[in-house]
Amino acid sequence: MLIVMNHNATQSDVDAITRIVAEMGFRAEPIPGSERTAIGVLGNHGYVDDSKILELPGVQRVIHVSKPYKLVSRDFHPDDTIVDVAGIKVGQGCRPVVVGGPCAVESKDQIIKTALFVKKCGADMLRGGAFKPRTGPHTFQGLREEGLKLLAIAGKESGLPIVTEIMSPDNVGLVAEYADLLQVGARNMQNFDLLRELGRIRKPVLLKRGMCATVEEFLAAAEYILAEGNSQVILCERGIRTFETATRNTLDLSIVPLIKEMSHLPIMVDPSHATGKRSLVSPMAKAALVAGADGVLIEVHPEPEKALSDGPQSLTFPGFEQMMNEIGQLTMFLQSR
Ligand code: PEP
Ligand code: MN
Repeated sequence: MLIVMNHNATQSDVDAITRIVAEMGFRAEPIPGSERTAIGVLGNHGYVDDSKILELPGVQRVIHVSKPYKLVSRDFHPDDTIVDVAGIKVGQGCRPVVVGGPCAVESKDQIIKTALFVKKCGADMLRGGAFKPRTGPHTFQGLREEGLKLLAIAGKESGLPIVTEIMSPDNVGLVAEYADLLQVGARNMQNFDLLRELGRIRKPVLLKRGMCATVEEFLAAAEYILAEGNSQVILCERGIRTFETATRNTLDLSIVPLIKEMSHLPIMVDPSHATGKRSLVSPMAKAALVAGADGVLIEVHPEPEKALSDGPQSLTFPGFEQMMNEIGQLTMFLQSR
């Protein structure tokens, strides 16, 4: 429920409502706006009788929110959230960021080489999986803690913040020691215990859309993290399953402006997993930025043909360099309009 105040409502009107909402057994969260204050009511599991509230001084109206998410919605938080990843700002109005790196950390040489190369090309963060959520158990599952240590070395040598995946609630403490941005993969978007645990840490989270998740389910998953107190969440579209098999997934680019309408959280796009095809990555990265994405997540490997996972969608070094040049030109073009 959202209580919208009149613009001439006073602080003591807001305080009185906060007190009454608490007496009703719920939590009130005042949301100051440029025009008027609103008060979000949290903790109710069903319809709340608003008759007592509507009689109070300063109240203009009450909106009953029946959606499974509130904290992530624009109704509750009209201003854009800017997420700070080790000093790099991500969100509306900030320069779009490029996160580059291999699907998985495979060796010290591979991750350091890639880190230095993507940094030289202008990337803002280094990605690389140490815990890999593979479809089958007989494939490479990641170097786990050893992979995190290699990421830390590569991060230090290149000066790039680290983005890496977290798969289990039990490993949140460990991964948070190394990662600047903790990635929740598509397969874990509805691992609610993991989301809750991530809500209790003070590090930003990159939440990828589940491959069969609706926009509502995606936002409801993000709500789990915010509900525990961590509002530093970046959403990431990475393609969804459709009848089409020519691409690995179908990139739902319309979600970018849609999320901007529905939520205050930043949204990035991963054209690597969305397309599964190297030649499509750069065009779709540029399309994502034109659609308003706050950044792109790109897989790049020194020798994609030898990659232990996702080689066919990984850019080569020259391919990454070319994409970065094209993104630079596109940005200049957009700014000149
Ligand atoms: C990844 O980023 O390497 C990954 C496994 O992505 P997704 O969860 O989107 O499949
Ligand atoms: Mn991958």
